[in-house]
Amino acid sequence: MNQRETIHSQSEGNPRALRVLMYHRIVDDADLCRAHWTSVHVRDFRRQLECLDRWGFTTITFDDYRLFLEGELNLPKKPVILTFDDGYLDTHQYAFPLLQEFGMKAVVFVLGKRAVKTNVWDRPLGLPEAPLMDWQHIMEMHVAGCEIGAHSMTHAKLSTLPERAAWSEIADSRTELEDLLNAPVLSFAYPYGVVDGRTKRMVEEAGYRIAYSVATGPATFGNDAYEVRRTTIFSTTGVIGFGLRVLTPFHYYEWLRWRTKRTFVHPNGTQDGNWLPGWEQQHQHPQPIETR
Ligand SMILES: [Zn+2]
Repeated sequence: MNQRETIHSQSEGNPRALRVLMYHRIVDDADLCRAHWTSVHVRDFRRQLECLDRWGFTTITFDDYRLFLEGELNLPKKPVILTFDDGYLDTHQYAFPLLQEFGMKAVVFVLGKRAVKTNVWDRPLGLPEAPLMDWQHIMEMHVAGCEIGAHSMTHAKLSTLPERAAWSEIADSRTELEDLLNAPVLSFAYPYGVVDGRTKRMVEEAGYRIAYSVATGPATFGNDAYEVRRTTIFSTTGVIGFGLRVLTPFHYYEWLRWRTKRTFVHPNGTQDGNWLPGWEQQHQHPQPIETR
């Protein structure tokens, strides 16, 4: 069924209740899932989509949300945004066919520089190298109704770059992708989830309308369009953990934990993003501590 028709035909949902979930890789390799929290097994991903379907959720994109803000669309009763970071080839190989099978869509954050063919930035963290989607794969997902967002040019840690280099990473990825897609690119995901005030300002100035962090930003969707908190789906999340994340106020719990930790670690505040969120720490520890 056409999801847009669904959105039209249902009564208005509550935008503040919108959940945003974050995935990286979807793989068919149990060893990889055991070793790396970013690799969700395709069997688990299928079960998670089945759950969303059974529990009455409708996947939307940021573009749908934008149209809702402009009064052109109603939201479904239970909207959810699925996001995939980095643009791995397995997003196209495993996630995309399942999304299509369930009549769902997602937001996929890809790099602007097509010369980057694998996740070379993960080498220092010991994560296995995986191929990224090429242009045809990205285009195919775009044409099928998925939203393509930018994730910088080269997956740079933007807060550490000189101003001009950071601007180029942010602004050039938008223009590169817009040229390739021949469509507006309005969503941005901060590489490593690292956000600071300068980066946020640049993302807004570069013309993006929304930007996604990982473990920072307000708990309620819509309170800060340039620091949208996402809920991570780990390789170990499974069905119970998934239910916890989408059916309960789990993100408020995560937010509270973040606030407490932030205050404890950096009493002087983190407006400039000096405190690295849990995601960054987890990257350095292949077995993250999490609530299942
Ligand atoms: Zn990334």
